[in-house]
Amino acid sequence: MSSLLRSAPSTDRRYELLRRFVEAARRAQIVTIVNRAQTEAELGELVAAELCEAFEAEIAFVVAGEDDGPAGVVGSYGLRPEDARRLLEHDLLDPALEAPQREEGLDLLSLGARALVCARFGSGALRGVVGVARLYDQSFDEAEAALLEAVATSIEHALERLRLGDERDRLYREADERGKAARVLGSIADGVLLVDEAGIIQLWNRAAETITGIPRDVVIGRPLEEAIPGWSAVRTSLVVASDPSSSGRATSVPVDIAGRELWLSISGVGFADGTVYAFHDLTDERRLEQLKADFIATVSHELRTPLAAVHGAAKTLQREDMVVGGETFRHLLNLISEQSERLAQMVNDILLASRLDSPQLEIATEQVDVRAVATEVIAAVRMQASEGVTIELVAPPSLPPAATDRDKLRQVLTNLVANAVKYSPAGGRIEVDLHADNGHIGIVVRDEGLGIATAEQSLIFEKFYRADANMTRGVSGSGLGLYIARALVHRMGGTISVESELGEGSTFVVALPVATESPRGGDTAATARPNRP
Ligand code: ADP
Repeated sequence: MSSLLRSAPSTDRRYELLRRFVEAARRAQIVTIVNRAQTEAELGELVAAELCEAFEAEIAFVVAGEDDGPAGVVGSYGLRPEDARRLLEHDLLDPALEAPQREEGLDLLSLGARALVCARFGSGALRGVVGVARLYDQSFDEAEAALLEAVATSIEHALERLRLGDERDRLYREADERGKAARVLGSIADGVLLVDEAGIIQLWNRAAETITGIPRDVVIGRPLEEAIPGWSAVRTSLVVASDPSSSGRATSVPVDIAGRELWLSISGVGFADGTVYAFHDLTDERRLEQLKADFIATVSHELRTPLAAVHGAAKTLQREDMVVGGETFRHLLNLISEQSERLAQMVNDILLASRLDSPQLEIATEQVDVRAVATEVIAAVRMQASEGVTIELVAPPSLPPAATDRDKLRQVLTNLVANAVKYSPAGGRIEVDLHADNGHIGIVVRDEGLGIATAEQSLIFEKFYRADANMTRGVSGSGLGLYIARALVHRMGGTISVESELGEGSTFVVALPVATESPRGGDTAATARPNRP
């Protein structure tokens, strides 16, 4: 038997104890509900329902608002949505009303309520009120008001927890999105430039650095005009769309960037805080287009000259007074033969250039006596060279064979020696120097001709590239010779390079693998590859 029963309290005291016990239990239950709620709506609905049950009331509601926003109904019980909205017309969040309010009347809060108890919560940014109302005449007592006040405090904490959680989730999502956006911007191939409304560069992605060669640190935070003057010069010709969906028009413009002219395709989109530009580099495509256009012009010209010569010669031969077998007759036949050979050579070059990348172009690996090939080539070129030009072969008495394709090597050498002659219009000495060196055969073709400007030395091996007509002083050509030579040398496992100075002559150097064994027959040989530059 417990001592409680032995000294049984009075009925009032027992009733008071029981009431407190029930209140504590209800409070504990409401606090549990409040703490478990995952969303504000869930919190509001569950608490309102629980309060109605605990207080034996028909209506309960939670209204809350932040300093900088309007109040809203977090949840309610016993109210139609329009009644719940009407609650907001009453100044329930009046900061002057701090203590729990108890009221009796006939139509409290215009809801037909006859008894009402409200407890306010929040003092900082978050403010709110929790209210319970009865539609019958039974006012709320002080204990109920106290219980409601305790519940209000729990609701305040729960709302703060949920709002902080939402805020944290939002910040996390934003950071995550920003991180993703930064990764995307960093990995796309297009350059992206963002200029704010004051004209200051705020973003310069990795592709922008690669395309322009200007590092991020140099441009970020600086006015566009100052950081990339070439860009601002073309700015007015760029089309800036007002929204991303209409940004279909990119403009191709030459932009002067850090002393280089880049052809960029630029599209821009304006937005409230500035303009974002996306761009990619068209310089190479542009140069190829230009080269093709030049090539068509050059080839038409180059083909027309020998064709006109052949045509003219044939017409003369048809004349009735032509003495068959005479001097003019022989001269014209020679001319036709030479010029048609030149035409055939040019057509062959064009065909070969288009097949160079294809695997169908077969490259043999034979043991080739480079000295013999060079002697043959020099003799052939000499026949066509003017008198002011001398061509000499400098080679040691014995030279190991190269592992290469004889015909292709002949073609490469012919091009180099013929170029040396062509680009020595004032005559001079041309030297073809052969040597064995470190596992490869070196072939050096040296002339004292026009020379090649430093800036052009890397370009002359490109398809169709011809140096400035003023510099080549009208020497004819298709711009395919060195392109073909380089491709063939590479396919033969070798390297080709040039050293030159304008006006001082040029030196072309080819290195081919030396054949390490001398098999008795067949055309394969073990080779040592030269080091590529
Ligand atoms: P082509 O001679 O038909 O123009 P190539 O591809 O053989 O074409 O040469 C490309 C360019 O390189 C030439 O237009 C010329 O400007 C330059 N070049 C080649 N060889 C020499 C050389 N030995 N001396 C000076 N310039 C040269």
